[in-house]
Amino acid sequence: MTVRLFGCVCGQFHSPGSGLGMDIGRVAVPIPFYVIEHPDGVTLFDCGLHAELCDPADPYRERLRSQDLDSPVEPHELASAHLERLDIDPGKVRYVVLSHLHFDHAGGLHQLPNATVVVQSREWAAGADAEMRRRYALPRRFFDLGHDVKLIDGEHDLFGDGAVTLHPSFGHTPGHQSMRVRSGQGDHILVGDACYRAGVVETRAFPAHADHAVMGRSLDALLAMRGSDTVMVFGHDPGQWGPNAVLPSART
Ligand SMILES: [Zn+2]
Repeated sequence: MTVRLFGCVCGQFHSPGSGLGMDIGRVAVPIPFYVIEHPDGVTLFDCGLHAELCDPADPYRERLRSQDLDSPVEPHELASAHLERLDIDPGKVRYVVLSHLHFDHAGGLHQLPNATVVVQSREWAAGADAEMRRRYALPRRFFDLGHDVKLIDGEHDLFGDGAVTLHPSFGHTPGHQSMRVRSGQGDHILVGDACYRAGVVETRAFPAHADHAVMGRSLDALLAMRGSDTVMVFGHDPGQWGPNAVLPSART
């Protein structure tokens, strides 16, 4: 069995473009997560939205809408639905690596009951601190569900063979991390929200809540990791999904 990488979209953000570093006007951007098949276990990088957000009347969605942000999602877009289409039992997912604890990245954890959550210590500590939760919008409802948690500090080789490596990329949140996957499909750096979309590499239009100096250094470090054929997959880039998706979401 070789390593395979899939990219799945779990709903969208509808918001003013300025918050996502995009041109003025309202935008709809995808909420991706990733499935990595490795001989030693299926791993997800992030897991999309909570199933309850399929209901427009969900209290968290209502709160987001009051801040001019909505996150519509359909049941067939949830992590569990994508996994079932890939013939993967959600109960058999071994690891969920979280880039960070925002609701659009950690929300699907409740669908993955037996996975070990892999997260940077700094991020988990922020999620345990009431003041940091408020400041960075890290609602406990989505990530504090009693999973086994493997805390890491800095770079980490998940399976010890160099195929799936984790790289700290702090700034968006205190302990944000990115993932590199070397598979039969090539070399991919799953940037996460260290950079929302390709254009931000130039503009450095980072979100208002973030630590911009730290984000700038993190993005530079990720860019420096690139080889000649590395594909950077950004956090919420409409140009990388849809009909010309940068990664397959299904077996072909
Ligand atoms: Zn995000």
